Amino acid sequence: MTQIRPAGLIVGLGIILGLVIIVAGVLSTGSDNGEDDTTDELATENVTPTDSDADMPDDVPEDDPPSPDATPDATNGATSDVSDDIDDIDVETDAEADEEVAETDHVTPYREDPLTEEELSEYRPNELGKVLVLMYHRIEQQDNPEDVWTRTPDQFRDDLQWLYDNDFYVIPIRDYIRNQINIPPGKRPVILTFDDGTVGQFRMSEHDGSLMIDPDSAVGILEDFFNRYDDFGRGGLFSILPLAPFAWPDAEDQRDYAGQKLQWLIDNGYELGNHTVGHVNMGETPDDEIKSELARAEILIQEYVPEAEISVLAVPFGVYPNQGETEIFEGWEYQGDEYALEGALMVGAEPAPSPSHVEFDPMWIPRINGDDEQLGRWFSYVEDNPGIIYVSDGNPNTVTIPENLHPSLVDTLDETKIEGKDVIRY
Ligand SMILES: [Zn+2]
Repeated sequence: MTQIRPAGLIVGLGIILGLVIIVAGVLSTGSDNGEDDTTDELATENVTPTDSDADMPDDVPEDDPPSPDATPDATNGATSDVSDDIDDIDVETDAEADEEVAETDHVTPYREDPLTEEELSEYRPNELGKVLVLMYHRIEQQDNPEDVWTRTPDQFRDDLQWLYDNDFYVIPIRDYIRNQINIPPGKRPVILTFDDGTVGQFRMSEHDGSLMIDPDSAVGILEDFFNRYDDFGRGGLFSILPLAPFAWPDAEDQRDYAGQKLQWLIDNGYELGNHTVGHVNMGETPDDEIKSELARAEILIQEYVPEAEISVLAVPFGVYPNQGETEIFEGWEYQGDEYALEGALMVGAEPAPSPSHVEFDPMWIPRINGDDEQLGRWFSYVEDNPGIIYVSDGNPNTVTIPENLHPSLVDTLDETKIEGKDVIRY
């Protein structure tokens, strides 16, 4: 789809430049304010011990969805649902059990039998179509329409509502990267990503001895949606800065909850991503330092949550090493240990290709920035071009492609990316 590329690139460059300026500013104020302190805290606190002996009830949230018809009591509903979950984290921290349940859920396709003729014409699956990967930074109140890095809580709710109303279904990014998208037939996958671990993404507070998630923080808003709609999926990738997760730019009190937040995310179907330790510009950083930054970010996050898989990098500023090489990402060594990334995310600026598409490259995943201009543009694009968007057939083991494919998608299936899957054309 050549028409979106040039504009996308320009927007991408603009975003990179903007982010360089903004984050450089944040970093210069933030680091004065105690990176050393944070390191000490990490070393001494080494948070949230995993109680591996706990006999875990099966409590993956999807297993017990509230009725989708239940009338949501906007704010209060979110607070109480979420705080129930949070209360649970003291007693249920056997994350391995959680993981097993999640994996078992995963391998069961939503749909195993081939779709009928009627279903094919109703759902119109197209598994060569494009996937939306959205990118957010700050979720908080603001009144400057020029600030493309902040989405207000109400704007973010509107984004989620639009996605839900347009048949999108939230998936983990690893399912996209591994070409294992498992969502109901007729649904369109969407991936939500959050960079920098800003405080507005995940704020906690204590009430009467229990921890509660701020219903106006991104996680509070997501939980409200996921609890209200059991046909909206679940997930979100939080690519944090591990010296002060969810405390940026000015929430010192939130540092105390870092371990609980990270563990809670992993236990509740979210993912944690790498964003380096110091938000480095990899275009200006020697290879050895890049390897150290990437490995240490993973090590620091796993001090909080040992079982967390940190295999996706949100590339800081969208600037790749050595003018666009991804060799390091594919495998490197640090202090005698081997590391590798499964995927890397760009900053900007268009829908991403299907994982079965010839142009799909897990080290170059484009994202759409969560601002009015970009979202307005691409949401309209989806509405105007439904034939270009990925629509699932319900079975991750088959690739269903319409015969009357959109011209931009003709002959774009890459057989090497679909090993073991049956191709169904209709
Ligand atoms: Zn960043």
